Amino acid sequence: MAAPAASVARPKVDLYSDTVTRPTAGMRKAIAEAEVGNEQAHEDPTANRLQEMVAELLGKPAAVFLPSGTMCNEIAYRVWCGQGDEIILDATGHALHFEAGGPAALAGAMTRTIAGRRGIFTGADVDAAIRPKTRHAPRQKLVSIENTANLGGGAVWPLETVKDVAAAAKRHGLRLHMDGARLLNAVVASGIPAATYAADCDSVWIDLSKGLGCPIGGVLAGSSDFIEEAWRFKHQFGGALRQSGIVAAAGVYALEHHVARLADDHARARRFAEGIAQVKGVQVAADEIETNMVYFTVDGTGMDAAAFSKRLMAEHGVRIGALGARLRAVTHLDVDDAGIAAAVAAVEAVAGA
Ligand SMILES: *Cc1c(COP(=O)(O)O)cnc(C)c1O
Repeated sequence: MAAPAASVARPKVDLYSDTVTRPTAGMRKAIAEAEVGNEQAHEDPTANRLQEMVAELLGKPAAVFLPSGTMCNEIAYRVWCGQGDEIILDATGHALHFEAGGPAALAGAMTRTIAGRRGIFTGADVDAAIRPKTRHAPRQKLVSIENTANLGGGAVWPLETVKDVAAAAKRHGLRLHMDGARLLNAVVASGIPAATYAADCDSVWIDLSKGLGCPIGGVLAGSSDFIEEAWRFKHQFGGALRQSGIVAAAGVYALEHHVARLADDHARARRFAEGIAQVKGVQVAADEIETNMVYFTVDGTGMDAAAFSKRLMAEHGVRIGALGARLRAVTHLDVDDAGIAAAVAAVEAVAGA
């Protein structure tokens, strides 16, 4: 493999995100050998296979391969909502903070937020967010939940809570969408099958480019009618591809080889959290780590999160991003036990110096 360009400083340990992974040798081989065709005519056998695999995994009649997880959310919102309609979601929701205003720009939808706990809310919270059905109020169409909840700390939705929210959505005539960027992390952590989580959702997707380690893509699933509409917007948003099997092959490979190993990422996240919990000036709720994310603060060190992050990278080659007042470390395929030990040592050194 070619060495990275000298001008690009690669971190020694990269805990910035689970999106930083490079395709493994096995994945590259699957990509190289992929059978391909015109995806838009359903003539790409590898894209078709990936869609069938994800539809089955999520227990839905149909699925569509999309270039990104963001497009999975935005197309689902576009299918379910029209101009002036409203989406109910947690105040920490990815679509609210990190999709460039997509719900407003692309679906024309408003958002109403719920102040959940670690990104998770209940049916009673949905009830409380329901508006009177009058000519004055926006029409509420959709409840959108995120499992695992990213800004919620990688928190796993309890199945009863999904069911509770689904029942509330149904009571009020709303659809339920699940942003499952890291649904398989929730599945591996909880032992609850993906299809069980997805059963009460009208639309649901998984990301391929997070913990699964693919370079590109997400797969959105739902009813046949929903997916037919999703295909229409895939074209309209410019996401309809041609020989997409070249990247879908990575997804097929990842579903076959990279799911069970998510448990290793979770164990390493926990170990990292337990390691830094011992460091003076660092605050972390180590007992709340359920999946592959560790949010922590460094209030007692005299540094803010951004300064701490900068020093970790500059002095130790350990990349951990600062998100506002918090730092976030994310484990993935390209971080091993030695990397975790080095990252804990780096936090100790920066906090102590
Ligand atoms: C990353 C992420 C997305 C967007 O996925 P991309 O594939 O990066 O576009 C959506 N929701 C959540 C919770 C995410 O973490």
